[in-house]
Amino acid sequence: MSQPGVPASGGAPTGLQVQNGSTSALGSLYTNGPVQNALMSSQVSVSQGYNSQLPGPYPHLIPAKSSLNPVSGQDNYGGSQTVSTLNNYQGPGQTLNRPPMASNPVIPSLHSGPVPRMSPPASQIPAAIPAATPMPSGSLLPGANLPPPLNWQYNYPSTGSQTNCLHASSQSTVSGNTNLTTNHQHVSSGDPSLQNSYLKSGSASPLVNPPLPTTFQPGTPLGPPPVKGPPPVRALTPQKSSHTAVLQPSFNSALNQEGGTSNTSNEPMVVHNSYDEIEGGGFLATPQLTNKNPKVGGSVGYSYPSLPPGYQNTPPPSTTGMLPSSLNYPSGPPAFTQTPLGANHLTASMHGLSLHPEGLRVINLLQERNMLPTTPLQPPVPNLHEDIQKLNCNPELFRCTLTSIPQTQALLNKAKLPLGLLLHPFKDLVQLPVVTSSTIVRCRSCRTYINPFVSFLDQRRWKCNLCYRINDVPEEFMYNPLTRVYGEPHRRPEVQNATIEFMAPSEYMLRPPQPPVYFFVFDVSHNAVETGYLNLVCQSLLDNLDLLPGNTRTKIGFVTFDSTIHFYSLQEGLSQPQMLIVSDIEDVFIPMPENLLVNLNESKELVQDLLKTLPQMFTKTLETQSALGPALQAAFKLMSPTGGRISVFQTQLPNLGVGALKPREEPNQRSSAKEIHLTPSTDFYKKLALDCSGQQVAVDLFLLSGQYSDLASLGCISRYSAGSVYYYPSYHQQHNPVQVQKLQKELHRYLTRKIGFEAVMRIRCTKGLSIHTFHGNFFVRSTDLLSLPNVNPDAGYAVQMSVEENLTDTQLVSFQSALLYTSSKGERRIRVHTLCLPVVSTLNEVFLGADVQAISGLLANMAVDRCVTASLSDARDALVNAVIDTLSAYRSLVLSNQQPGLMVPFSLRLFPLFVLALLKQKSFQTGTNARLDERIFAMCQVKNQPLVYFMLTTHPNLYRIDSLSDEGALNINDRTIPQPPILQLSVEKLSRDGAFLMDAGSVMMLWIGKNCGHNFLSHVVGVQNYASIPQTMTDLPELDTPESARTIAFISWLREQRPFFPILYIIRDESPVKANFLQNMVEDRTESALSYYEFLLHIQQQVNK
Ligand SMILES: [Zn+2]
Repeated sequence: MSQPGVPASGGAPTGLQVQNGSTSALGSLYTNGPVQNALMSSQVSVSQGYNSQLPGPYPHLIPAKSSLNPVSGQDNYGGSQTVSTLNNYQGPGQTLNRPPMASNPVIPSLHSGPVPRMSPPASQIPAAIPAATPMPSGSLLPGANLPPPLNWQYNYPSTGSQTNCLHASSQSTVSGNTNLTTNHQHVSSGDPSLQNSYLKSGSASPLVNPPLPTTFQPGTPLGPPPVKGPPPVRALTPQKSSHTAVLQPSFNSALNQEGGTSNTSNEPMVVHNSYDEIEGGGFLATPQLTNKNPKVGGSVGYSYPSLPPGYQNTPPPSTTGMLPSSLNYPSGPPAFTQTPLGANHLTASMHGLSLHPEGLRVINLLQERNMLPTTPLQPPVPNLHEDIQKLNCNPELFRCTLTSIPQTQALLNKAKLPLGLLLHPFKDLVQLPVVTSSTIVRCRSCRTYINPFVSFLDQRRWKCNLCYRINDVPEEFMYNPLTRVYGEPHRRPEVQNATIEFMAPSEYMLRPPQPPVYFFVFDVSHNAVETGYLNLVCQSLLDNLDLLPGNTRTKIGFVTFDSTIHFYSLQEGLSQPQMLIVSDIEDVFIPMPENLLVNLNESKELVQDLLKTLPQMFTKTLETQSALGPALQAAFKLMSPTGGRISVFQTQLPNLGVGALKPREEPNQRSSAKEIHLTPSTDFYKKLALDCSGQQVAVDLFLLSGQYSDLASLGCISRYSAGSVYYYPSYHQQHNPVQVQKLQKELHRYLTRKIGFEAVMRIRCTKGLSIHTFHGNFFVRSTDLLSLPNVNPDAGYAVQMSVEENLTDTQLVSFQSALLYTSSKGERRIRVHTLCLPVVSTLNEVFLGADVQAISGLLANMAVDRCVTASLSDARDALVNAVIDTLSAYRSLVLSNQQPGLMVPFSLRLFPLFVLALLKQKSFQTGTNARLDERIFAMCQVKNQPLVYFMLTTHPNLYRIDSLSDEGALNINDRTIPQPPILQLSVEKLSRDGAFLMDAGSVMMLWIGKNCGHNFLSHVVGVQNYASIPQTMTDLPELDTPESARTIAFISWLREQRPFFPILYIIRDESPVKANFLQNMVEDRTESALSYYEFLLHIQQQVNK
């Protein structure tokens, strides 16, 4: 492939797309159609995602309305048929008649008594944000309409928050952030003007020691910390009990919020008056901080139970992280006063080069094409002294695109690499130290939580590693609960763990922690009933009802809707649930709200009763209309007083009432260059999401639809409310067993996984660095504070950064994320992660520390934004240019002698491959007729998936598994787990006599070749011959053979690495799913995309220009 026209960096927008399958102008980019590969089979399967085991079209795929008489459908539904089903449902004495039809505003036909009118629909409530923001780019930010350059500009002028219109605008689109972020790009510490902006005039807050006993409880049980454990050696007198008794924790929203320090004295405090700053605001700049505990003499009389029993299966924190010997904190001030960060760290880091010599290699990719490691790619280890590195944050939780931070923006600009962080802050952790203490030690200036990378000037003072302020060590902190020794502040768990969780005292609350509230909204239109999904969802809820995270306060409620909205009274004492129909969807009111959202414990039988009955209630419906918007408004109203989670199940394009949408996808333009429908067609869902966010309500969307449902619009409801989107194209209970299984597994995970409520997250970084763009599902409520009404352990986030001030005097920088949330048990908790990285001064060092996976992940986020603000082809060009620019910079600025070939630093050896994989990823691919909703969903995944799963989706791991051996196997708990090598993603690596497993994260595909050995077929698959492999086989049987044991062990082990359950598709040669399998063969050429080698040649041409 050597067609001209690929832009040089920053060049004209001609380009790669010419090579990617079209020969002409932009408008016909994808006209060459979807034929991908000789091995590839049907187009149908390509377009249907993983559900292509469908035997063929089935009625569900046909727009339901076309097969129904809409008019009669409505009438019938309103008539006797429905009523009869309802009759089963009514409590004694209730008569519910459905009103004629909802086209005219009708008074709610609730005959069971007068019902108060409710407040106006949410859409009439002023939105939380100023503008309607219909379009992401133009309306949000000044300058956003500028045509974006084709490559990203990572270089940011070091002043002025308005300079990055491009990025700022992009962030307001698919990323979950919105206009409020516009002026708040300088999140970093240190900007004096900013510091002022965080200042609030405030009165002195009272001493806010909460009445919690100070208990370090690794894995403490919920609720008040145990105080009765045998007290450790009490070197000191008891303290504070009388003190704290005076100070009632206050839920007053004007005081005592998180922003305040968690303890100590009566000094003036900043007053926060909303959730926006509950996590801590920025810089307090309260000058005269004595921070002296009134009590002298080290009165630390708290009871520190020594490693109490685990909390929720959490083993006690390993002692390794807390070994007192791991860090030498010189006690004398002189050692510390010279440099901003601990000098001991510094010197040490000079010796501790952790780079393997291999890492210094320069590679000619044209000669060494297979650089893919045979084992999963590990993130690079920052070049830090081992004493520091071993305290560093786990890269699964927190990683940076550059593990060596360039000391100036100029240096960063030269590298042409994006600087950013990728976070998985709420990941399920096996081991999580939990600290209960009245003293959460934070920097007085920038509110950073004390962490392993601060410096202790002496026992009594510590220097913040983000803003360099010198803080006093609170008296309580002098005592180390682990060693029970006084005078070891640097050995406290807070200083020994980069990931830690605090039990937050009352000043971290705006109100008493909310109860867990779960609300379910079910589409029960004809289309929905036809899919049969209600059976599965209701059954799944029944099965998992007792596993919903919560406590005795847990509340639950249900709404169903078609052209009307059906509420269900579950009031304790009723003999059965009571259905209440509201047909006025123009102005939805909530009948007896107190009975619709009920305590789960008290009304469990009614809930179970309802769940058992629901699937049958609508089986005969002919109602085709879908009033999703009004149903969501109703749900929002019900949830507003408490906050919580709304789970919406939708099976079609909503077409009635507010939020009604029109079909926008034209199938024959699916592969058109102008993906004009990547943006929402209405701002209704976004506005409602922002209303939800303001009331601590998150909305999760389950879209189960065989037709275009405008996910670009619907998805906003989740994106801005910090919810999640799930998509099951062509879901059907009978015809699509694979999707059924997938939904079942994912529902189980969804319903039972940990959840945090009313959460906010803030990311801080060392003075000089600045965060300017956020990616993920949330709303940026104020400056840099991410509003997360719900947070779940499967959500990832990314941020972009720039170097605002030179870091020339700094050898280490740190990043800290703090997630403040309410647990399902009603505790306020703060999870803190701190990452420490070295600063470097040469370009070569920057390149050597590049984390190619993190870079790819961040680029993907940026590319999604670019798709929306500009176009798909722009985004693709920018991706390609990212590689070209970087490798050009490396060639011209680092390499001394200009060798032929495509020279890359070892760290970036997979950069071109991963970018090519991105170009072939569902979000960005061209030349196929991928459905618009599937593309949008893939983009949602880019934004919301943690990096590790995103990378598996983008560049899956391929293994040959028909001849697994124990050679090199892992041994875990007496299980032998084979470790077959990872293969390149190319059909060259396949052979018809083998069986190949592709692990793509949420899905696995096992392709079995036609001539696969009988041994594998009979001993692993359990069939006599190839022809007997079932068409829709989604797991392997457990057979009593060593081959089966090995295979099962390997697949189970892969599955155990992730919290969700990937479905396994067994693919025969003629299976329609095979196209999906082959589509992931990133290195192969297709008619619409370059092969890896062609791509390398293209890059080389551009680089060597
Ligand atoms: Zn600080």
